Amino acid sequence: MTEVSHGVYHIEGQDEFIPDSHMYVIGLPDSKDLSLVDAGLMGKGEYKIKSVRNLGISLQDVKRIIMTHTHLDHIGCLREIMEHLPHAELWVHEEEAVPLEEGDERGVYGMDMFRSMCMSQYNLQPGAFKFHVTRALKGGETLEIGGISWDVIHIPGHSAGSIALYQPTQKVLIPGDTVYADYSIGRFDLYGADGSALSRSLMRLAELDVGILLPGHNQIVIGVKPGYILDTAKQWAPYLR
Ligand SMILES: [Zn+2]
Ligand SMILES: [Zn+2]
Repeated sequence: MTEVSHGVYHIEGQDEFIPDSHMYVIGLPDSKDLSLVDAGLMGKGEYKIKSVRNLGISLQDVKRIIMTHTHLDHIGCLREIMEHLPHAELWVHEEEAVPLEEGDERGVYGMDMFRSMCMSQYNLQPGAFKFHVTRALKGGETLEIGGISWDVIHIPGHSAGSIALYQPTQKVLIPGDTVYADYSIGRFDLYGADGSALSRSLMRLAELDVGILLPGHNQIVIGVKPGYILDTAKQWAPYLR
């Protein structure tokens, strides 16, 4: 794990036969107001918590977990993590907050076949991903957290309640699974996905001045070349109608 920008830390996912999302820790350590962005796959909670501690961060200072979206590879170890952070709040976009509160897990698993496979592989019970959401985000908020301000942008398409976090001064973008390195984008065939919405969301992100791209998986990019997201959006546009 490394500090990729001032007050922005990367904890790399440990993929298995299912990917484990990266976790980001945002906030200045002295602020004692830190946030985790995304959790990861089932069984990765201890690793993620240990990695947070290894940054020299006291778990008492972690005030909230913000989800870019609630697919299984991001929310799988949320409960394991929350056991270490009983005081922490959970912030999720309203489109996915409501299903989490109701225990509607269609969006978590994305498809029925995957659901049955994962439930037996990981011995998951129905209701495993029912959570109380402390704050339902809408998009358009500016979060003043940990001594840094982050814009919340609702970017549906990969999932209904996907959000990006954008820090304009440091030009840092955390887009969840919407756009990755190497001109890749998130899949758009799962429950709640929408190809044309994804196309519009990519165009929205393309308006931002991004120097550091911190996606949910694979390579992080420091020194993003100008126009990278626009080029990615244009390449994919014909497939996203
Ligand atoms: Zn996803
Ligand atoms: Zn993912």
